[in-house]
Amino acid sequence: MINLILFGPPGSGKGTQAKTIVEKFDLTHISTGDLFRYEIGNKTPLGIKAKKYMDDGLLVPDEVTIGMLENKLDNSNNPNGYILDGFPRTIAQASALDAMLKERGTKVTHLIALDVDDNEIVKRIMERGKTSGRADDRNEEIVRQRIEQYNELTSPVYGHYDKFGISKKVDGIGEIDEIFNRIYDALTVPVCDSQECN
Ligand code: AMP
Repeated sequence: MINLILFGPPGSGKGTQAKTIVEKFDLTHISTGDLFRYEIGNKTPLGIKAKKYMDDGLLVPDEVTIGMLENKLDNSNNPNGYILDGFPRTIAQASALDAMLKERGTKVTHLIALDVDDNEIVKRIMERGKTSGRADDRNEEIVRQRIEQYNELTSPVYGHYDKFGISKKVDGIGEIDEIFNRIYDALTVPVCDSQECN
């Protein structure tokens, strides 16, 4: 079973790469950003709550996000495993995820971080904003706010899983296929498989 956290700043290519990894390993893709956009599209109370944070480039509060993720896990059952894209984004979310997976008799097996510098991210997201239909992709100030939230609140999640020997960095610059091959290598080369390794 693979339970992969596909990690990295906004615009680092997580969604693009997740599509290919899902096909290759027959995994279920869970993107909390997509789940929020679905709720917003349906004007649900959860979507209305999340929208004001997303529009400002801020993280949606942990209790809202964790509840939504748990609900999604309860409604999907893939023995091959999951790709989590955009979750966990805080240490509290990581701890909640660890507990949820433990309850289900499993755990996070890999964290792969796509490494892309800030200027490249801003360039990519502004380009994506021309067609993505996402308000948070069109305003440079909001994009920079999202990067700041990533650096401040999300990047420590790398260290949380590095303690278990399962975090790896992959160069996120290059052709899509090239980056996929790097991820594939990172996923298939054995890593420390025990949370007690260190
Ligand atoms: P994304 O599509 O992953 O770039 O997420 C878009 C926006 O959704 C983020 O800027 C956050 O406002 C919100 N969001 C997505 N995932 C999370 C999460 N795990 N925790 C908090 N907010 C999130």
